[in-house]
Amino acid sequence: MSGEFNYVVPTKLHFGVDILTQCGSLISGLGKRALLVTMKVEPFMEPSLAILRSSLKEAGFEVHGFEGAIPNPTLASVEKGSQLARDLDIDVVIGFGGGSAMDTAKAIAVGATHEGSLWNYIWSSDTQPTDKTLPIVAIPTTSGTGSQLTQVSVFTNEDLKYKAAIYNELIFPAVAIVDPRLMVTTPKAVTAATGFDVFTHAFESYIHSNSSPIVKTLAKQAIAIVGQYLPVVLEDPHNIEARTQMAFADSLAGMCIANAGVTLPHGMGMAIGGFYPNISHGQALAIVYPEFVKFTESAAPEAFEMLRNALAPEASSPLEAIEVFLSKVGLNKKLSDFGATSSDVSALTEQCMVLPDYQANPRVTSSDEMRAIIEAVL
Ligand code: NAD
Repeated sequence: MSGEFNYVVPTKLHFGVDILTQCGSLISGLGKRALLVTMKVEPFMEPSLAILRSSLKEAGFEVHGFEGAIPNPTLASVEKGSQLARDLDIDVVIGFGGGSAMDTAKAIAVGATHEGSLWNYIWSSDTQPTDKTLPIVAIPTTSGTGSQLTQVSVFTNEDLKYKAAIYNELIFPAVAIVDPRLMVTTPKAVTAATGFDVFTHAFESYIHSNSSPIVKTLAKQAIAIVGQYLPVVLEDPHNIEARTQMAFADSLAGMCIANAGVTLPHGMGMAIGGFYPNISHGQALAIVYPEFVKFTESAAPEAFEMLRNALAPEASSPLEAIEVFLSKVGLNKKLSDFGATSSDVSALTEQCMVLPDYQANPRVTSSDEMRAIIEAVL
């Protein structure tokens, strides 16, 4: 082993089945006036939200709700929550849900305490959040985006059709509470898309130009778990052991992206999400993965052999393995299945070259190669 590396995840992680019941005591000391950020409350959330609220109240929190998180959060949605947090003088923000609710909570923690539009604080801006940022608690209900352990909050500027992120260490959650019991209600399509997202975080961190021995170790484990357990949770959604394994892989993969990052598929997936908000993040990634494998395989053969072994050892190549796996989990789709047409190709190609993720790929695309990939996944 050679070379230096750094590894940081400052979040306190509490992991375990039914650990939600302890939430109040686990986060005591972070504040008193809590904003609980969720999507519009649906029946599946009610029992766990009741447990959460009662645990928070027992620990002395005054709990206010913001039900305005939406799938693929928009600038308008995160700013609405920020305004409410400011009006209520909130001192801790709790995101309960999938990546969309957790990312909304993270953005609110910045928006409640900083002036101007939240778009001024995205990764490429000279203006960055300061330590006025409120403490964040992240409680995932999908496995997942890893957002409970990352310094990233993703949202879309609808006017610009640009899905971007605040990327700053100040938005690492102070506390992450990962309770696999919360994932058993996740519908099949969401389980598949979010489970594949876990794989992509681990795999792209493994091949990333900033990868490190610790990231590779965590990533390899996460990849193996997804290969084994994602098909199991899809067959048997109430299998708590399989849900626990996927929640564990999700957390490992979150630690990976926090310390290495993502590559070509995510840059493309983010651009696709900005153009077609009806495509879930994990599905967008699944759409681009076969072409990404074709394009990149020769530049990282050992990693792609690991992919083949983890996802479909019976396949004769990494490309066949990803295709077999995507079919097995129901994510083998094209962009045109979601209404995309060839008239979008030029603008989408341009947007895919905006985020720098593609530059960390073992093989870097030119703009013409990016266009060819998009044409192939259309
Ligand atoms: P999501 O949060 O958008 O949720 C998708 C759907 O699943 C919603 O309708 C939600 O109500 C439902 N759902 C969630 N949990 C459920 C449960 N337990 N039972 C039943 N239904 C449930 O989906 P996601 O994939 O978790 O998050 C996607 C967002 O996260 C995207 O905006 C993506 O860009 C972002 N993301 C962020 C990071 C990060 O590090 N911050 C990393 C990857 C992705």
